[in-house]
Amino acid sequence: MKTARIPATGQEFTIGKIVCLGRNYAEHARELGNETPTAPILFMKPATAVIDDGAAVRIPSYSDNCHHEVELAVLIGRDARCVSPEEALEYVAGYGVAIDMTLRDVQDQMKAKGLPWEIAKGFDTSCPLSDFVPAASVTDPHNLSLRLLVNGEVRQDATTAGMIHRVPQTVAHISGIFTLEAGDVILTGTPSGVSRVKAGDVMEASITDVGRLKVFVQ
Ligand code: MG
Repeated sequence: MKTARIPATGQEFTIGKIVCLGRNYAEHARELGNETPTAPILFMKPATAVIDDGAAVRIPSYSDNCHHEVELAVLIGRDARCVSPEEALEYVAGYGVAIDMTLRDVQDQMKAKGLPWEIAKGFDTSCPLSDFVPAASVTDPHNLSLRLLVNGEVRQDATTAGMIHRVPQTVAHISGIFTLEAGDVILTGTPSGVSRVKAGDVMEASITDVGRLKVFVQ
């Protein structure tokens, strides 16, 4: 079992499902040559994909092009089913930093064949995840700076203002399809600047007022 923690309140949640948004920043959709979606593109990672700060991402042997995607993570604090955007933030317990590790070569092959992406997105260690801060401590989840550095060099540097589907709409939309349970996590998509990492690299991700995360690549 994997655990999500909010140290400031002492709360701990067993992580359930991890629901992820694809192409939720227009510039990132453009850099991969994708159209900007009208409805959120959703996929999932299993909870077994989570690793903590200080751990290592292990790139599977079936990939030769593993990318980082820094993302704002949303922790669900109580069960939510068919909630409205107006009430959606009442179900959010906290915010954290995640890296959606993606086997871009495998994902491209799967997309070309019309097949599911899970082996490109949900492999063991594919979801480095920080501790969470209480939702009440984040004034505006759409005014946060996200950064990701590889070996000290800035690769991603953007703000959550660039999100296409915002947190309340996203929580509401997902809750109408998959009941969200306490301990579920939503990854809200990545801005532009995604790039390849290889064994020996060090990734440092941070989001202002939310936290930071340092992981290694094996
Ligand atoms: Mg992503």
